[in-house]
Amino acid sequence: MESVDVLALLHLVPEILFVLEKTPEKGWVISFITPSVKRLGFTPASLRQKPFISLFSKESQKVLDQTLRAFKGREMKLGLRVHLKRRDGKTVPATLGMALVATATPRAYGVLTLLSQLSVVDRILNQIDVGVLLVDQRLRARYANRYVRRLFSSNGLPVQLPDYLKQVIQEYIKEKDSRENLEIHTPDGRVLGLSLYPLKSTRNGRRPEWVMILKDITEKKMIQETLVRLDRFSSFGILASGLAHEIKNPLAGMRLIAQNLMRSLEGKPRDSVERMIRQIDRIDHLIKQFFSFVKPKVQQLRDVSLPQVWEELLPLVQERVTKNKVELRVSLDPSHVIRVDVNHIQQILLNLVLNALDAMPRGGTLTLRSEQVQRQFPDRPEQEWIRIVVEDTGYGMDPEQLDKIFVPFFTTKSSGTGLGLYIVHQLVQENKGYIFVESEKGKGTRFELLFPRSKGGD
Ligand code: ADP
Ligand code: MG
Repeated sequence: MESVDVLALLHLVPEILFVLEKTPEKGWVISFITPSVKRLGFTPASLRQKPFISLFSKESQKVLDQTLRAFKGREMKLGLRVHLKRRDGKTVPATLGMALVATATPRAYGVLTLLSQLSVVDRILNQIDVGVLLVDQRLRARYANRYVRRLFSSNGLPVQLPDYLKQVIQEYIKEKDSRENLEIHTPDGRVLGLSLYPLKSTRNGRRPEWVMILKDITEKKMIQETLVRLDRFSSFGILASGLAHEIKNPLAGMRLIAQNLMRSLEGKPRDSVERMIRQIDRIDHLIKQFFSFVKPKVQQLRDVSLPQVWEELLPLVQERVTKNKVELRVSLDPSHVIRVDVNHIQQILLNLVLNALDAMPRGGTLTLRSEQVQRQFPDRPEQEWIRIVVEDTGYGMDPEQLDKIFVPFFTTKSSGTGLGLYIVHQLVQENKGYIFVESEKGKGTRFELLFPRSKGGD
């Protein structure tokens, strides 16, 4: 800092610039700091040779201490959110950026920006529930609001755009035109909604930058897809139950006639009529069963712990598991207690597990796990959820097949009924849960159930 001119200039910057040195006795100490530190109530002279972390609040000290301890070689830390301690003891939020260099005495150069100095726009953009990102022509992030930083789990700037996103955007920005409502599928199975707008350069012919608006729409998509499926099949359900109703009356008539016929055939061979009556009774039984599927009723809501359910289920499937050489991976947490009808949850899981086993005739892995998740469904914002995942590495399904699986009587198996998933769906709904499914032909299938976490259980 020999140049007087530079020093004079430094008086003007609102940010707090600093140089640190690592000393054996006191760790990282301040060897230079700009006069702007007066904003915190200190004079530069009073801070010289003081430990750097003494500028920060307790919480920030912990984070910084770790960062500084872990440092070796050469690195940049940018956009760390910290709290500075003013001389009067109050804390103020700031962002910290610094470059650390290991020389004979390790040094750091950096800047602290008080958030109160950041633009109002930035503060507003950090409050909203969509991502706002500014990128340059080479797809480097120039600005990212909090939503984006969270989405790409980055502590601060510079946000690194993931490669899949770069690839997609690269295509679009060639056309130099805005694009809206693009859907991007991330490698980890999420769906991002994306709109792109070019910011036309005004000054000295700079290349345009792009504003990107991003939103994670995974949940929305899932619900939408389920709703579409549900809609289609609920009209099917109504149709089918209407039809069943129409069949019942003529069937009762037929049975009556057949019985009269029986009587009038006293003493003559009449086993064909007997057979007819048996067939009529079979249809009648089927229809009765169908009605009981259409309206499953919750019998008794109870707090049910998932490992218990599995304990009772395992004996029912163990033989098939062994026979199919399927590896079981079960991790159900005893603290995951859901409020459902215990018979229903058993039937749901049994059906999903049996289907998974059917899909792996020559072995594979069946995963059953539970986790607590946060989901914001518009009608039940406060609810906590337990997610149960039933996943197989079996033959999977293509999209057309996937579309039909909840439709009653849809089956691809020679001895299937096609009622399993239909019932599962009904039961999940009856117990106020949600069911989602993803599948890929040749790879496997994953069912996800969401049930309300019991308030009593912990
Ligand atoms: P069923 O098992 O009697 O065929 P379901 O309603 O249980 O009837 O399932 C309907 C169809 O959905 C199955 O025939 C199969 O094609 C498909 N299916 C269900 N679960 C899976 C799975 N885990 N893997 C692959 N396909 C599945
Ligand atoms: Mg089945």
